[in-house]
Amino acid sequence: MIIILRADVSDQNVQVVEQKIASMGMKSHVSRGIQRTVVGIIGDESKVDKEAFEVFPFVESVIRVMKPYKIVSRDSHHEDTVIDVAGIPIGGKTIQIIGGPCSVETPDQMAKAAAGVAAAGCRLMRGGAFKPRTSPYAFQGVGVEGLEMFQVAARKHNLPVVTELMDVRMLDTFLEHKVDVIQIGTRNMQNFDLLKEVGKVQTPVILKRGMSATISEWLMSAEYIAANGNHNIIFCERGVRSFETAYRNMLDVTAIPVIKRETHLPVIIDPSHAGGKAWMVPALSRAAIAAGADGLLIEMHPCPSEAWCDADQALNPEQLSELMVELRGIAHVIGRDF
Ligand code: PEP
Ligand code: MN
Repeated sequence: MIIILRADVSDQNVQVVEQKIASMGMKSHVSRGIQRTVVGIIGDESKVDKEAFEVFPFVESVIRVMKPYKIVSRDSHHEDTVIDVAGIPIGGKTIQIIGGPCSVETPDQMAKAAAGVAAAGCRLMRGGAFKPRTSPYAFQGVGVEGLEMFQVAARKHNLPVVTELMDVRMLDTFLEHKVDVIQIGTRNMQNFDLLKEVGKVQTPVILKRGMSATISEWLMSAEYIAANGNHNIIFCERGVRSFETAYRNMLDVTAIPVIKRETHLPVIIDPSHAGGKAWMVPALSRAAIAAGADGLLIEMHPCPSEAWCDADQALNPEQLSELMVELRGIAHVIGRDF
């Protein structure tokens, strides 16, 4: 940590800073320039609060030199991490496409959806039994029964299930129902108590980016999960809020190379909740794969016009199959397996 002092700082106040650092059990290094005096803290700065120094009127600014996240940082693990989801690798060389409906509706809908997902060549399936809806009067998901319906449909095609956990009280139920990947939605990215609890199990977690979260905040949320013991984390960019109204969210493609540089963990893209319209999904999916994403989370419904939730953005099974062919081509051009 580097503390930059104001130009007119007195020697006495420099000593105040040095004494404070010493009282924290660390060493300091004072560097007096012509314009500025700078104090460097030598030691583990992770437990030092910047505000402990910013509070002094003679301190101009305090800069951290260490990253606030450790386990998820590429500094702690240089190689790409591959997460094993029921034998299917996420991250590394292979690109995985997770397909399925926004929400679990009926056994028939799930059977058709699972057949479509498998026929298109996707190796994992998504579907929400608990839905975070903006309006409390909108369909909230079919609940626990949906987890059962999902398993029956997905197991028939050996598809691991990806489903959203919103309430920490449902975690045991998710484990009992052998959910393969727990999805933490955009609205819960900073629900720290929920993150701590999913950190205590080993089930892989898809951590969606908060709709207004910075990349640093997103990484810190992942660190909450990792710090509690679960290192099986997959980042998912799903579009951020912007001034634009022509689409649902702005897909932050730039986040892909940034996240890949900052962390060793895989990153996938959700083009469906970004664009919010089915016709945008192919273009956003192509961009994501070309930019280095490790996979996609795509909404597909056997009959989109009848979907109970997010009907506008769901592909039909044929559209998903066609998209898979295009994506395979892009994957091979950039040297990835598909
Ligand atoms: C979803 O994937 O169904 C979902 C609700 O996504 P998000 O949290 O990104 O809005
Ligand atoms: Mn949805």
